[in-house]
Amino acid sequence: MKTLRVQVADTARRLHDAGWVANHDGNVTARDGARFIATPTATSKRLIGERDLIEVDARGQVVGAGKVFGELGLHLAVYERRPDVGCVIHAHPPCATAISASRGNPIERPFIAEAVVSLGARIPKLAYAQPGEPARQALAPWCELVDAVILGNHGVLAWGADVEQALLRLELVEHLARIAIAAAPLGGVLPLPEAAIAPLLAARAKAGIGRAADRAVATAAQLLDAPRPVVACAPAPHSPVPTIAPGGAELAPGDRDLAQVVREEIVRALSRPD
Ligand SMILES: [Zn+2]
Repeated sequence: MKTLRVQVADTARRLHDAGWVANHDGNVTARDGARFIATPTATSKRLIGERDLIEVDARGQVVGAGKVFGELGLHLAVYERRPDVGCVIHAHPPCATAISASRGNPIERPFIAEAVVSLGARIPKLAYAQPGEPARQALAPWCELVDAVILGNHGVLAWGADVEQALLRLELVEHLARIAIAAAPLGGVLPLPEAAIAPLLAARAKAGIGRAADRAVATAAQLLDAPRPVVACAPAPHSPVPTIAPGGAELAPGDRDLAQVVREEIVRALSRPD
């Protein structure tokens, strides 16, 4: 059995060999007791050997020598919420990164069964977020639900119980992205029927991955599919879209006359700093 350090170094080089990273892109971490083994910053993954790896504690502080990469916070966000996770990998595989940097997300809804069991009910594409706390906050709600996300205008983050499983999941995301892109000229992939998802999620939960199926379906729907509230001049009683009044309060019918609401909304829009 290879040591954890050797597995992490091997995986870093595999990211490069697969063409999933360029320059200094990508990073790999693995849980080692209360600490984490991590690839160093500003180094091509092609050149990483086990002696180049660094160690960090749960707060992201380096133990010993070396400099940690800036995206470590994303890895720690997963480890904090998923005690079952032993490895997190980030890379920029071309097809999945093409999806990350274009409109839409053709792999969000699963179109093959294996994807649901391995990755969850959705492969969400997070909106672009500044590195650091904003990116960490965008990722947090998904950590328990899924095992890979597309980071908007960035790349892929995947995690697993061990180094091999995390790498397989990253590979699966890229493979699904390639299939979706191949299917685009044929009219695009056809997602699995919604009714097929819950039994697959039940199999996933039975295997000890993610949340129970009903909670996973409900929460994923809540995070991705819920209609966003809009500020409106008048309530729309037949619309499923929640209506909120300027300033955020619930708008009860007859609360304000329409002219007053429109005036307030225009004043508010014009006084916004951006
Ligand atoms: Zn990156």
